[in-house]
Amino acid sequence: MTAPTLLGAWLLAVALVVGLFRRSLARLWREPVLRVPVLIVESDDWGAGPLAQAEALQRIGDVLQGHRDAAGRTAVMSLALVLAVPDGPAIARSGQYRAVALDSPCFAPIHEALREGVARGVFALQLHGMEHYWPPTLMASADPAVRAWLHQPVPATTEDLPSPLQSRWVDARTLPSRPLGAAEIAAAVAAEVQAYARIVGEPPRVVVPPTFVWTREVEQAWAAAGLRCVVTPGWRYPARGADGLPCGDEGPIINGERSGEIGYLVRTDYFEPVRGRGAAHALGVFERKTAEGRPCLLENHRDNFIVDAKTRDQALVELDALLAGVRQRRPDVRFMSTWELHTIVQRQDPDWLVAGTRERIGFVWERLRGQGRLWILLRLLGVAALGNAAIRLAARSPGGR
Ligand SMILES: [Zn+2]
Repeated sequence: MTAPTLLGAWLLAVALVVGLFRRSLARLWREPVLRVPVLIVESDDWGAGPLAQAEALQRIGDVLQGHRDAAGRTAVMSLALVLAVPDGPAIARSGQYRAVALDSPCFAPIHEALREGVARGVFALQLHGMEHYWPPTLMASADPAVRAWLHQPVPATTEDLPSPLQSRWVDARTLPSRPLGAAEIAAAVAAEVQAYARIVGEPPRVVVPPTFVWTREVEQAWAAAGLRCVVTPGWRYPARGADGLPCGDEGPIINGERSGEIGYLVRTDYFEPVRGRGAAHALGVFERKTAEGRPCLLENHRDNFIVDAKTRDQALVELDALLAGVRQRRPDVRFMSTWELHTIVQRQDPDWLVAGTRERIGFVWERLRGQGRLWILLRLLGVAALGNAAIRLAARSPGGR
């Protein structure tokens, strides 16, 4: 074969791969590129529940307050709130579903710790759900363990429920789950948004769907009620399958993507010391995401901090190490709330986002490396090596803010 024939075959192969993966490539390119490293730790499930949360929140706030970013801003944690748990004794007495809300006197220490953290600038609050379950599903359950859970003294711990029942926006009394009716969804969303405004003092703008199981209908109801940002794992899971796992993947969803009034953000990875993903793991994620021009949006849960004092103290040490680690690695790091990131991305704020093609290319090339099959094909074709060399030559620093 002659050189021109070989070159032609190679070009054809490259064109084929590009054509095959054009949607993925377009998404990588479309996703906003941040000028500076951004760290956001999002912790879920706080609010109505075990009273150990009050001291945990206080201690988390102290750790956050010890760290400032390049702009002198205190570290901040975005907390997704659960607004109510069952009123077990009342349910046992009446046979009807009854709830105890986060602003009831029995939760005063938790409510106060949240309010104090917001005043200190270390907490940003967002909606998780009125409950971390769908009440009619639990009430209809024939499972003795679920009935006992519903009837126990206040407060119940939702993490103790079987996993499929922790999803709020499907009926998982039998599997696969069934969708909820539009009227039920609209009423429940209106009630949770109203309760949030009463308890927090302002309406919610960001929502983290419990267990990441939710539907377009729920999203439309949230939008109608004033929510503007939905946090996702990069997919929407509208159901629980026969095996109980979230399913029906809708996506992929990228940072900054919109659907009507709603803008999406994507949690990329975890900071969960209790599950072996502590500071070392999260710092690796931070470095990768920063190289890709993406925000480092980390998932966390209250159970790292409320199970027992030893686990909590270890998680606090890890949190401290994470914050110290990002500042040491990147002194230009910025801490912010999920809502602030949403605003930056939706406004396409030029102070924060890189717009020029030549400035973006290096970041997008880094994203390509995480693309599994596509990256393997590019390596086999030699495109990866060529690209690496070209990037080294052409890339220009995006410059500081
Ligand atoms: Zn949750």
